[in-house]
Amino acid sequence: MAAAVVMGEVFENEDLVKLILRKTANWSFLMSGAAADTLRIRAVERARLCLTLATVNWLFFRLTKGFAQSMMQAFREDALAFRDLAFAMCDKALPGSIQEQLATVRERSLWPAAVYGTSLMEDAFCRVDNSVAFTQEFQFLLSSRMPTHIVEMLDMLERRCVCCNAYNVKVTNKPGAWGLHPYAGPLRGDANDTYVYLQGSWLPHTCESHFVEVLFFRNAELQQFDMHMYNNYADRVPGEEIRFNHFIRAARGQFWFRPNIARLFDERNPRLRFVDSHHGGGGGDCQFVASICMYAPRMELTDWSLQSIFGLTRACVTAMVRRGSAMAREERLLK
Ligand SMILES: [Zn+2]
Repeated sequence: MAAAVVMGEVFENEDLVKLILRKTANWSFLMSGAAADTLRIRAVERARLCLTLATVNWLFFRLTKGFAQSMMQAFREDALAFRDLAFAMCDKALPGSIQEQLATVRERSLWPAAVYGTSLMEDAFCRVDNSVAFTQEFQFLLSSRMPTHIVEMLDMLERRCVCCNAYNVKVTNKPGAWGLHPYAGPLRGDANDTYVYLQGSWLPHTCESHFVEVLFFRNAELQQFDMHMYNNYADRVPGEEIRFNHFIRAARGQFWFRPNIARLFDERNPRLRFVDSHHGGGGGDCQFVASICMYAPRMELTDWSLQSIFGLTRACVTAMVRRGSAMAREERLLK
């Protein structure tokens, strides 16, 4: 009983809590030349600590939230500064010798390297005569997803797949899975709105196979919304694509199928509607492509998956896949 009272006093005392966290918050020493991997390991420790402490009580929650935000901010600032400096370096707009320029860029590379990949400085640039040029690694970095929450950042720091929680899944020469949200994301295009599109992003450390390109469309003649696979790759084993197909086959008859696709069309920025139209927009057929996964991934935004688009439980998605598979089998037998 006495111990509980003491614990209570400790956890309600704001100064004491700040004292505990100050040690956690003081990590500026890491920025002074420490390797990205050291930063990564320390950042993982601190992010985990944050998430654990946040569950203790309201006070801890408030303080750790502040700390988590400052950590995210430090990453975001460095990631943006790294991009800007790298562009300036390749445009020959940075002062000093190439070694000095590389050192300037390297200084801001620690955070992005810790989050996206540890060999960033080695892989992102190449020497061309007396200047520096980008490689594909840098292009990947430019369109990699920025974490929006400390949990998501922890996943990236730990090299963890947002779908299946597997660690270190990078097996191809790509930096992860290509995600294209049905309606959220930065708009790209020209000033006259003649060509506007939604930009997708690389989800680092995530298995490529979870994300599948699907086409959502509105049939003007039938006044109907529907979806199907965007690509059916005949030359590769389409594991997840088959399961997507099964899901769609079974879901098409459900009352929630078409209204939810109509909702996605409503959520899209009006500037996107016409350019994505198949026959020039207006009242004609309208369609758009998205790259989504089956089950809700560990990311903040909704509608990244079949599960969240149709508001289903995980078990229900699995049941739909099974039902679709049975329907396909039946169709084959009847032929
Ligand atoms: Zn995975």
